[in-house]
Amino acid sequence: MSPSGASGAALDAADPLARYRDRFVGAPGVGAYLDGNSLGRPLTASVERIGAFLTDEWGGRLIRGWDEGWLDLPLSIGDELGRVALGAAPGQVAIGDSTTVLLYKLVRAALDARPGRTEIVIDRDNFPTDRYVVEGIAADRGLTIRWVETKPDEGVTPELLELGPDTALILFSSVAYRSGWIADVPAVTALAHAAGALAVWDLSHSTGVVPTQLDAWGVDLATGCGYKYLNGGPGAPAFLYVRRELQGALRQPIQGWLGSAAPFEMGQGYTAAAGIRGMLSGTPPIVGMLAMRDMIALIDEVGLDAVRAKSVALTEYAIGLCDELLPEARLASPRDSVRRGGHITIDHPRFAELMPLLWERGVIPDFRRPDGIRLGLSPLSTSFAEVELAIRTIRELL
Ligand SMILES: *Cc1c(COP(=O)(O)O)cnc(C)c1O
Repeated sequence: MSPSGASGAALDAADPLARYRDRFVGAPGVGAYLDGNSLGRPLTASVERIGAFLTDEWGGRLIRGWDEGWLDLPLSIGDELGRVALGAAPGQVAIGDSTTVLLYKLVRAALDARPGRTEIVIDRDNFPTDRYVVEGIAADRGLTIRWVETKPDEGVTPELLELGPDTALILFSSVAYRSGWIADVPAVTALAHAAGALAVWDLSHSTGVVPTQLDAWGVDLATGCGYKYLNGGPGAPAFLYVRRELQGALRQPIQGWLGSAAPFEMGQGYTAAAGIRGMLSGTPPIVGMLAMRDMIALIDEVGLDAVRAKSVALTEYAIGLCDELLPEARLASPRDSVRRGGHITIDHPRFAELMPLLWERGVIPDFRRPDGIRLGLSPLSTSFAEVELAIRTIRELL
């Protein structure tokens, strides 16, 4: 397809995935929602599922629900997510806590598994919470942070890494939250392993949109958000992945009763549950994990490769239109679709002023300091017409 020549409507008419947009709850007055990478839209199936849960399960089963399946949900939804979107065999993924808390658990566990090593490697442009968690742990433990300086329009590459016998772990994002750069996860992970370090990945901006093979890529530990491309809703719990071979050796730092071997014995002293359950801490956020289940099922129905193909077509179209209509703006994302995730960022000194005006007109992109408009294109809920409307509206306002 000719990216900038075609109208959004024509591309939608030819898009085999266009019909899935009807599965999402409509937003009156919103002409273009381009922030599905920050907060995915709800599925109508989730409205029904959560309503039924409140009436039948919570309301009807009451406390019996815990014995009748709720306690299994963090692991069974984790397994579904692992199969559909992460390339992870069962028993390695669990849902619970926020990404921030899971990062803390994973980084602490990884450090303890590499005693004597004093260095954590992370990039300067990683998401703030990732950096803050690492800074806090490094200060507590007297460790060194080795900052990787990435090019702002790109992200982490193997050439930028200096790892050695002091490196305990690396922590990078599989897709950079600003530029959208897709890291070469297997190559970077292999470098960490060659240095004897563990590889921790933040998958927040790739899960549900970029095909991922954690088992095959040799990833040790990973986490990511449930409310972005997984449409779990505001504050939905995150997920974590712990490679099976590491599960016996790793100890996570937030020892709670529901990660213990026998929670209902109420006994003295903590013994971790075997397997991935030992990564849990307190009572699992059951209501919060219901909606993502519907999105995981939808991605399963469509197939992640088809989702990715539409994702590439959407970002390609957006870049073509920006080149044509916003020549004074600067693309701050990779032009090569192989290295580009589901969103793009365009920079212009006046974009901050434009944001309230865009919102008034029902055009909702994201803004990232200092002057980037980020267009997050969630393939199953975003149309080509929305992309066109947003970029034409930015043109008009400029
Ligand atoms: C969105 C995002 C987070 C958010 O973490 P929360 O604990 O859910 O607030 C963390 N890391 C990355 C890379 C993100 O994109």
